[in-house]
Amino acid sequence: MSNKSQVRVRFAPSPTGDLHVGNIRTALFDWAYARHTGGKLIFRIEDTDTERVTDQYIQAAIETLKWLGLNWDEGPEVGGEFGPYLQSQRLEIYSEWAQKFLDQGDAYHCYCSSEELEQRRQIQMQNNKAPGYDGNCRELTQAQIADYKLAGRKPVVRMRMPSGETSFVDLIRGEVKFEHEYVPDFVLVRADGSPLYTLAVAVDDILMKITHVLRGEDLLSSTPRQIRVYQAMGVDSKDYPLFAHLPFVMGQDNAKLSKRNGEVSIAWYREQGFLPEAICNYLALLGWSPGDDKENISMQELVDLFTVERVNSSPARFDMKKLEAINGDKIRALTLDKFLELSLPFLLKSKVISGNQEEIAIVRSALPIIQERIIKLSEIPSMLNFLFVKDFTIVHEESSKISDDASQKILVTALASIEGLGIWKTQEIEERLRAALINGMGLKPRVAFSAIRIAITGSHISPPLFESLELLGKERSLERIRAAISK
Ligand code: GLU
Repeated sequence: MSNKSQVRVRFAPSPTGDLHVGNIRTALFDWAYARHTGGKLIFRIEDTDTERVTDQYIQAAIETLKWLGLNWDEGPEVGGEFGPYLQSQRLEIYSEWAQKFLDQGDAYHCYCSSEELEQRRQIQMQNNKAPGYDGNCRELTQAQIADYKLAGRKPVVRMRMPSGETSFVDLIRGEVKFEHEYVPDFVLVRADGSPLYTLAVAVDDILMKITHVLRGEDLLSSTPRQIRVYQAMGVDSKDYPLFAHLPFVMGQDNAKLSKRNGEVSIAWYREQGFLPEAICNYLALLGWSPGDDKENISMQELVDLFTVERVNSSPARFDMKKLEAINGDKIRALTLDKFLELSLPFLLKSKVISGNQEEIAIVRSALPIIQERIIKLSEIPSMLNFLFVKDFTIVHEESSKISDDASQKILVTALASIEGLGIWKTQEIEERLRAALINGMGLKPRVAFSAIRIAITGSHISPPLFESLELLGKERSLERIRAAISK
């Protein structure tokens, strides 16, 4: 084995949209591995597909990693001695290598048109043969080449795959073997001169001295092609990076999570009010475990405990309920200052507050009473709206629940019990209401308090009642109960 004492691990997305759950799970494991080993995390943007990978998505990817707290040692914004770290800025390098492979005879020009390839593929399938390039242009004569050129054909550069097999030890899966019969000669450079992923990724992993490639299992089958590129580069096998292919992340229905599904985009989770530490905590458990049943872990614990040996090879299933539970725990662990800071953008965006000091003070006093109750920050606006609305009305659906005689009687009794209250504090309000409704009328708390809850907040789902009454203030509370009675 090579000297892998300085671990260099890379996260190399091709952002063709917002990063999704699978990308981030990979980024997180890359980061945790680099931090655990005291190595370096290299962040490389694989943007050779310039039509699908846009600047906007690249910026969003950078922003997402920052938001999640997954910092990198080399890459965009920070630079590094093996840059540039955007593949679109390294095109010269790839074409030089491709030329070298041609000169060495490891690669050749292939003039087959896509129609010809497709036709031959159909025949292969009819004959029950594995579809793939059949070596048509491997040994073209000078005359044949001249004919193609005369016909105006532009060649691709294709790598020659020798017969035999490629095997390597995957750190998660153990020994993996690929028969070359199923790994046909593959394209390195398109007819327009642009490099393909397989060329760029392999060249960069070598030039950037990557020691470990931790990435999704969907890329397992591209590994023998990358190893072929290393060979053509003349790299000694002890200097190949070590591979670890992370298990698939499946959806709840056992189908593969896909980019097409909106809920896989990390931007969506952010908008919903999931905290970065909750996302990281939950994704860490997708295919890895800290070794016991512990589910709430900090980033530091992840760094301390993360080893590839603890990564599972079987697919992991995404479980929204579990993520929500972890998010709720992380919200409860926030300091009031931090909770306030995170809440304000949600309240401003939904226009519950305009952001003045007085409103912020009210939010600050109200947050502790909802901190136990919410699982996502996006619930905050509807929870606190009742404190800020100017023309308070109860939606019809809820108001019909308190228009019956029994509810009206509860409201009248409640009003009478607290109208004369001198000290408008949670505890005093609760004592009065309990005495009147529970002891006095013999009602069950749920029945007794639900009517008041609707009267003052407009919804039967709301923050704790007595605290809400205190926050709303005596005058407004009584006004709302009276309004609900006159209905
Ligand atoms: N750029 C590739 C992708 O986003 C991954 C490269 C790799 O990890 O080898 O699918």
